[in-house]
Formats: sequence, C-alpha cells, structure tokens
Amino acid sequence: MHPTRREFLGAAGATAVSLALPLRVSGGEPKPKSHIVTLSFDDGFKNSSIKTAEIYEKHKLSACINVVASAHRKDFRPPDYHDVPRGDFALWNELRARGHEVMPHSFQHANLQQFSFEEGKDLIRRCLDVFSRKLKGFEPKKAVYSFAYNASTPKLEAWLPTQVMAFRTSGGAINPWPRRGQVKLTCTSFGPGNCEHAIDREIDKLLAQQSGWMIFNTHGLDDEGWGPIRAAYLDRLLERLVGVASVDVLPAGAALSKYVDQA
Ligand SMILES: [Zn+2]
Repeated sequence: MHPTRREFLGAAGATAVSLALPLRVSGGEPKPKSHIVTLSFDDGFKNSSIKTAEIYEKHKLSACINVVASAHRKDFRPPDYHDVPRGDFALWNELRARGHEVMPHSFQHANLQQFSFEEGKDLIRRCLDVFSRKLKGFEPKKAVYSFAYNASTPKLEAWLPTQVMAFRTSGGAINPWPRRGQVKLTCTSFGPGNCEHAIDREIDKLLAQQSGWMIFNTHGLDDEGWGPIRAAYLDRLLERLVGVASVDVLPAGAALSKYVDQA
C-alpha cells in the first residue's frame, strides 16, 4: 500500500533486520524511520472520505478509512451525531483501488459492551462477511478491525485475533513500534467539537519519544460528524509530517505489514 515499499524491497531485499526500516533518500545515507503517524478515519462519511483520500493523494500517501458494513443501507439507523450521508462499497472499492486502506468498523455501529459475547461475535462475523463479499481483495486475516466507540471487551479481544490481523480499541494514542504478535492497537479521539488541538498534542508527545506509533481516531472533515478536523488543517499537517525525516505516515494495516514483515 505504501508507495515506497516496493522500491525499498527492490533495493534491500530481505536483508533488513532493523526494527526501524531505512528508506532511501536521494543523495544521502538511508534515514531510519522511528515515528509512525496513523490518522484512523472512522464512519465512512461520503464527502469526507472522498476529500480525505484526495488530500492524502496530494501528498502521495495512503489514507486509513474505517467504514460500517451496513451504513449504506436504507434501513441503517445511525446514532444522532452520525446522521451524515455515507459512502457505499462502490466508493470503498474505488478508494481501495487507488491505494487507500478501507477497513471494517463494525456491522451496524453498535457498542459491543452492551451485547453478550455470542451476540458480539455474531455482529463482527456479519461485518467481516459483508466486507469479504463486497470489498474486492479484502482478506480478514490482513484486516484491522476498529471497534465502534472503541468499545471492546476482554473476551472479544481474546477471540478477535482468530478472525483478523489486529484490532483497534481505546487505551491511548501512543503504541509501541510494530512487532510480530501485536494484535491490540490503541487510540485516542476527541469530540464532539474540532479535534485538531488534540491531534497536535499527541504528535508532540510522539515526537518527544525516541520512537513510537501514534494512532489517532479521526472522523469527518470540516463540519461532518463527531470530532472533525478542517480539510485545510489535514493538508497542512500532512505537508509538515512528510517533511519530518523520522516520520512515516501510514494506515494501521500497512504499518503492521510493512514493519512486522521486515522485523
Ligand atoms: Zn464510529
């Protein structure tokens, strides 16, 4: 998914053993990446998803978009603050084909802490089934499942790695560097108002560390949805991050695939 990966593999093959992969930079020694920034966009608002993808493309990056399996259906009943037009699988297939990551964010946006374990498993299976049928190339074993409301349970957390590569739930934005067996990813979010200051704070925290992986759960752009950011802010933020040599901006699944495969 990441545009530099193939180039790097071609250059260095399977000989890299470092946790922080070097990426080739023109005219100098490879610079190790030591910070990963993942903005994990939830809920699949149609206009925001299109705009988000375009802004990432402008910076030659892949966006991380997490969508609700049944949100495009007429019988979908969104929470009040989610009552915004949603994309459908035609759009998700198009964005995926353009190099963005489209991942499952529940079957119907239920809080699974309010369901029995069996009901929770059933809803997750139904979600993964819709993705397997409707999203071209989708493989559950390469998927990152993002819990609605970041609300998981210990039992679901123990079971879910039998179905998917990893899951995202609450627990703080700073994660350790991707490593084999890392199935639980944690994130923070901020809302219902604009969450730009919260993102800036977490990025400052990340860059103050020697290394780490920040996952911030974002939603819509401009006025869409809970805890939005401005499109202009996203554009400026990506421009700034691309200019920081230690930073790799990646979707969650791509971060795991890229760095764990090479560890
Ligand atoms: Zn959500």
